[in-house]
Amino acid sequence: MKKHALMIKSFIGFFWLTGTIFAQQPEPQPVELRPISENLYEILGGRGAQGGAYIGDDGVLLVDAKMDKTSVDQTIEQLKEVTDKPVRYLVNTHSDGDHIWGNQFFPESVTFIAHENCRNDLFLPKNNNEPSDWYNSELAPYIPSVTFREKMDIFLGSKKVELWYFGVGHTTGDIVVYFPEEKAAFIGDQIFMEIPQLIHSHKGGNSFEYVKTITKMLDALDAEKFCSGHSEIVNREAIQVHVEQMEKRQKKVKSLIADGKTLEQVKSEFEENEGRLVESIFNEITKN
Ligand SMILES: [Zn+2]
Repeated sequence: MKKHALMIKSFIGFFWLTGTIFAQQPEPQPVELRPISENLYEILGGRGAQGGAYIGDDGVLLVDAKMDKTSVDQTIEQLKEVTDKPVRYLVNTHSDGDHIWGNQFFPESVTFIAHENCRNDLFLPKNNNEPSDWYNSELAPYIPSVTFREKMDIFLGSKKVELWYFGVGHTTGDIVVYFPEEKAAFIGDQIFMEIPQLIHSHKGGNSFEYVKTITKMLDALDAEKFCSGHSEIVNREAIQVHVEQMEKRQKKVKSLIADGKTLEQVKSEFEENEGRLVESIFNEITKN
């Protein structure tokens, strides 16, 4: 299959999955680099999730890839405005298309890095049970070739970037890319401020593990800024509040189940946009 056709198929799948986030924004804003420090930028705009760029002594490390050629080309153009160093590493925070589909539009010379579970998730069948597009041999050079299990440090000359895995959450393969000098953590889709947290049960995501994982992250890192795929930068307190909201929902679902309520009855006790998350929580509790 030609890349173009692959791209269109993936777009359809992507919008079907995340239509609520992007429904109001069919034409993306141009890609823009927003500085966090002299060396670290958030990558905003384009088609796909927000990411990051870190200018090291001898090259650039990117966090996440957007999802079409235009957005990747714009990212590369914007980087040229701030550095003449090449992109050496691209770290994917997890396996969702809006963070990883753009890998294929970067040069093959880039080293793609992810958690080992993220790499495995790429090969899961699609929702309609068709085999994953990532089996296509044209995409092979863009599948993360370096993976890790718990922690990995990447040195760009004297600058250190830390990759951390704290456990299952949104999927089983979400990682945190931490920049110690800036006290900034890029956490992909481990937080959504505008909509209820997404938990991808089909990729092994779990809301109860999510609470443990995010708590572990807050304990391990003295991060002050949390950058993510679909929200503004937030502080530690906002993350704590987000986790508490999750715990509140879990408690409420638990007590409704104890009262003998069905899934539909439980869902009717929540806002409509909480339905998908409530269903995940319900299934997690009743499966045990
Ligand atoms: Zn995303």
